[in-house]
Amino acid sequence: MGNRAYNFNAGPAALPLEVLQRAQEEFVDFKGIGMSIMEISHRSSEYEQVHNETQELLKRIFGIPAGYQILFLQGGASSQFAMIPMNFLRAGQVGSYVLTGAWAEKAVQEAALFGEVAVVASSKEQKFMKIPDLSGLSLPANSSYLHVTSNETIEGAQFQSYPETGNVPLIADMSSDILSRPVDVSKFSMIYAGAQKNLGPSGVTVAIIKDDLLQDLPKTIPTMLRYETHSKNNSLYNTPPAYSIYMVNLVLKWIEEQGGLTVIEKNNIEKSGLIYSAIDNSNGFYRGPVDLGSRSTMNITFRLQDEELEKKFIKETEQQVFVGLKGHRSVGGLRASTYNAVPYTSCKALAEFMTDFQQRNS
Ligand SMILES: *Cc1c(COP(=O)(O)O)cnc(C)c1O
Repeated sequence: MGNRAYNFNAGPAALPLEVLQRAQEEFVDFKGIGMSIMEISHRSSEYEQVHNETQELLKRIFGIPAGYQILFLQGGASSQFAMIPMNFLRAGQVGSYVLTGAWAEKAVQEAALFGEVAVVASSKEQKFMKIPDLSGLSLPANSSYLHVTSNETIEGAQFQSYPETGNVPLIADMSSDILSRPVDVSKFSMIYAGAQKNLGPSGVTVAIIKDDLLQDLPKTIPTMLRYETHSKNNSLYNTPPAYSIYMVNLVLKWIEEQGGLTVIEKNNIEKSGLIYSAIDNSNGFYRGPVDLGSRSTMNITFRLQDEELEKKFIKETEQQVFVGLKGHRSVGGLRASTYNAVPYTSCKALAEFMTDFQQRNS
């Protein structure tokens, strides 16, 4: 491991060491072509092979059934907040949203620029510390879709199951928990994720979209913002973020080598469990504000008794090469992001530090 930091950054975030080493080996000479993958045409057979293989890997690992397109888009997950209503929110219909945190809120605000929006469930009054119970969810009959945010990266609340939506297409922002556990992809009409949390570096957004949803889209949308442009051209209408996609390719191979999503999920439960145990066994020294049934395995948020002590905690962790433990500036407190690539050893070291810090400060 050498001098690798204990990286708990929220995004961009840790990448598997094996992936970085593999990328390093291929950096100046990709597969004997005498150039890097960044220096060749996106129409070359070498690049296209990487591009198509990345889609195949994702299909296999995530269990994506036939009838879905896998797109590589730019502009981050944030651009999807606008592209979704632009493409799918029809006149006379409403875009339905579950409001679970800061990211869902941005998705709602953006959709409201394009049409009518319905917030069909919300945990805003609980300060987003709980995913609302959606078992009896009723959607407006004229819903174009229901949008959910699978994992709220800032607050640390994660869906444990997804709502039944009948004929209404279900769309999920999985930016911060895609491939963290097995998911029944067939329940969704669209899943999207910015790569920089669980899939690779920033620069590419993966969108998995059911063919049905791509029928009869309005022709008035600017070319680059129309899903059809990308689906008809296999995400090669214009220059794709080739290096980011190449890195996603390596991360997917790494996930497969770990044993796929069942193993990844088990590891994530164990890793986050170490830190949640340090919180729960602290007699209130650490406080996990998120409802037990909504706790995220990806972003663990916690508080200390006052901000003074939180500052001290951050300062000491930074001295010991723990990185990224400060909570998001909008909510304060502390946050450990334990994405797929964060090793067990980092989580164990943090849990041990937490216990030690408690002993020295209580
Ligand atoms: C990080 C994040 C985003 C924003 O991603 P960008 O690629 O920076 O636009 C959106 N949704 C969720 C849940 C996120 O965690």
